[in-house]
Amino acid sequence: MSDYRIETKCIQSGYEPENGEPRVVPIYQSTTFRYTSSEQMGRLFDLEESGYFYTRLQNPTNDAVAAKICDLEGGVAAMLTSSGQAANFYAIMNIAGAGDHIVCASAVYGGTYNLYAHTIRKMGVEATFIDPDCSVEELNAAFRENTKAVFGETIANPALVVLDLEKFSKAAHEHGVPFIVDNTFATPVNCRPFEWGADIVTHSTTKYMDGHAACVGGAIVDSGNFDWDAYADKFPGLTTPDETYHGIVYTERFGKGAYITKATAQLMRDLGSIQSPQNAFLLNIGLETLHLRMPRHCENAVKVAEYLKNHEKVAWVSCPSLPGDKYYDMTQKYMPNGTCGVITFGLKGGRDAAVEMMDKLKMVAIVTHVADARSCVLHPASHTHRQMNDQELLEAGVQPDLIRFSVGIENVEDIIADVEQALQ
Ligand SMILES: *Cc1c(COP(=O)(O)O)cnc(C)c1O
Repeated sequence: MSDYRIETKCIQSGYEPENGEPRVVPIYQSTTFRYTSSEQMGRLFDLEESGYFYTRLQNPTNDAVAAKICDLEGGVAAMLTSSGQAANFYAIMNIAGAGDHIVCASAVYGGTYNLYAHTIRKMGVEATFIDPDCSVEELNAAFRENTKAVFGETIANPALVVLDLEKFSKAAHEHGVPFIVDNTFATPVNCRPFEWGADIVTHSTTKYMDGHAACVGGAIVDSGNFDWDAYADKFPGLTTPDETYHGIVYTERFGKGAYITKATAQLMRDLGSIQSPQNAFLLNIGLETLHLRMPRHCENAVKVAEYLKNHEKVAWVSCPSLPGDKYYDMTQKYMPNGTCGVITFGLKGGRDAAVEMMDKLKMVAIVTHVADARSCVLHPASHTHRQMNDQELLEAGVQPDLIRFSVGIENVEDIIADVEQALQ
């Protein structure tokens, strides 16, 4: 990890060309890598030696971009995945298997809820969803003998619940399991969960990191702080021999790199959710301006939220950076410089008025996306969360009338003017 400030890291980290090499990280558009010795290739397969041999396992473009994200979060190792979904899937399945259990904040992205409530359940991993605002006692009560991880989002999409990172990390550590945080909305520019006790951070790089709605992608970063060997019986995958690699033990061989090495060597090898080097290249260009875009997203979001709050047709507005918001105090602790560009609101006319207003927007588009340069809206109850019943929606912090407004980095007066005409 370099000592540079976050703005410099956005631009400089992850890739340092040698004399005469390309200044910009090149796209290694190659599935495979040549060796002159068959014996060396064998050593690569045994993880005896590190080196590139097949892009499903590692690719230099992807590694450079993963190293940048690692540095931004202050971690020790990182990997890219094909999507945020793959990142959150791998992050759990790297340490949990059939018969295991996880604790998850109930206010999370709809896709993550599906993944943890239904898909991994079919694989034998059960999740207990807990209200992120619960008491310490309630949180502790959610743990079981077979609990392997705690998961939450820094700022929940779309509920905009700001997670009490210290409360969750403390509970996780008291039960001898890592705390995994999806830091997609805050980004490391506004919050670095490792500084608050998180052990693993995940990202949907599809959102602010890419920032231009160009590429779906994900990332997993390890802080290197969780002591797997101290709870060796809970995490045999990391602390006992892997027969598929001639009996290497990840924690012994790779130390602080154990978790990411295992995720790459086993899960990426077998499940293959790689990010294409082309996408990683574009993601890297997005990362270079992340520190410029985030403050503007936040500034515009607060202005739009203030405008909506004073509008007679608006029933409620949620923006954690706005004084008076339920999570304002939490943001002052964990992300005083800003939260994200996403706000939510409801109209006095309810669900029908929401749909009508969205249809009248001209510049602000209805899209199944969030957190990119262009302002956009979505109605989660009809779109991303439509598979949830009303009870599940409320538990996820999503009111049926909720409009998710991803405030972009256009001129804020133009954004407000569009909303104004749609509300007329
Ligand atoms: C979008 C999103 C995901 C899923 O990411 P994809 O890149 O769409 O697979 C996960 N977590 C959060 C917080 C998200 O916003």
